[in-house]
Amino acid sequence: MRILLMGPPGAGKGTQAVVLAERLGVPHVSTGDIFRANVAGGTPLGIEAKRYMDAGEYVPDSVTNDMVRDRLAQPDAANGFLLDGYPRTLAQVDELDSMLASHGSSLDRVVELTADLDEVVARLLNRAVEQGRADDTEDVIRRRLEVYTEQTAPLTAVYNQRGLLAQVDGMGAVADVTSRILDELGI
Ligand code: AMP
Repeated sequence: MRILLMGPPGAGKGTQAVVLAERLGVPHVSTGDIFRANVAGGTPLGIEAKRYMDAGEYVPDSVTNDMVRDRLAQPDAANGFLLDGYPRTLAQVDELDSMLASHGSSLDRVVELTADLDEVVARLLNRAVEQGRADDTEDVIRRRLEVYTEQTAPLTAVYNQRGLLAQVDGMGAVADVTSRILDELGI
């Protein structure tokens, strides 16, 4: 299964993605996680990405697309994957389409986790305390939500038009959200 998990920052994408990937037996491909690993490792990619991440902005497509292309070309992603955090722009949608087409495949389903905005801000501020992420300060959180609304929310219309979109309420207990998603996926 080739699945994309979408949703605003703080909707619980990362948490759900880990559980779902395990359940579906596919790799969890999170661009945010790959960027953070590169930042932690002090790689050139990490140094480049950090400037944008710390400001709540998207890392440029030129960097992000190449990174995803490499990741999806790994053997473990040949029969499926759970994408988390990519694509985030309309240009990335096109790019992903052509990456997958070059392997003769396409996305099977897009799940959007929906969330109340105030709840999302509260969750992110809480995560800031628990995990100490550099991009979880209040100003940066607000910017990340703005960028999501402007650049990423429009993607749902594209996937809806393709008949791929399932919208799932991301609020509530983790296990409840997981079962809602599995229901939508028919699992
Ligand atoms: P996330 O953990 O998915 O919230 O991602 C953390 C940060 O990594 C984002 O705020 C962006 O700065 C960057 N990032 C992750 N995925 C992408 C993407 N597809 N395009 C551009 N930037 C991204």
